[in-house]
Amino acid sequence: MDGRIEAGFRYRFRELLKLVGAKRLDFGVDLLLGRGRERAAREGESLGRALAGLYEETRQKVKRRVEVTGCSFGEVPWERFSEEGPPRFLCDPSLGGLARWLRAAGYEAFVDDAIPGHRLPDEALRRGHVLLTTEAEVLLRRIVVDGSLLVVWVPSALTRKEQLGMVLRDLDLDLREARCMACGGGLVATAKDAVFPRIPPRTAKWLDEYFICARCDRLFWRGTHWQRIARTLEQAAAS
Ligand SMILES: [Zn+2]
Repeated sequence: MDGRIEAGFRYRFRELLKLVGAKRLDFGVDLLLGRGRERAAREGESLGRALAGLYEETRQKVKRRVEVTGCSFGEVPWERFSEEGPPRFLCDPSLGGLARWLRAAGYEAFVDDAIPGHRLPDEALRRGHVLLTTEAEVLLRRIVVDGSLLVVWVPSALTRKEQLGMVLRDLDLDLREARCMACGGGLVATAKDAVFPRIPPRTAKWLDEYFICARCDRLFWRGTHWQRIARTLEQAAAS
């Protein structure tokens, strides 16, 4: 488990250090991983969480450096989607929970059990999607190494909220209009009368705004459940 986490963070740290043209890349990465292990032991937290914290601190430093110098060695992931429009995601099946939260945050995120794991990178490339994976082996694939496919490796040791925060920060994504958490379809405002039989009577008494998923026809309203989700999203985006 720890070996897989280190392999994933090794890749993440390496990508960060490359952006600022760091010399002796492997030395720098080993140093950061060592610091993460020390922090985990000192704070009594999991290695995944310690490395995630250290990663975020390093990312912020690199981001500031790139902003100040106006120079980066390679494409900066957090600037990538400001002009291209919002990314779409293909998630490995273990990230179904994250996919649901990404949809609530307004992004299309697909999970397709029919695609064998080893085919996911090629499929993401074919679709033009960002691949979200917990598998560190994927990071060694040629299409990832040569930069054709953007992969965001997500530690399985983190909570879904932490995973969501990490992806949003990695790519500098804002919260957008919520999409259907079940399928990712867009939500369309609908007249209360048109869906009245489907509204629980107690909800109908105090709410007048309703939405239908354009893809799966599920009914949504901004009740307490929705408000709880919105709060979690704001916390994840601000963390
Ligand atoms: Zn839907």
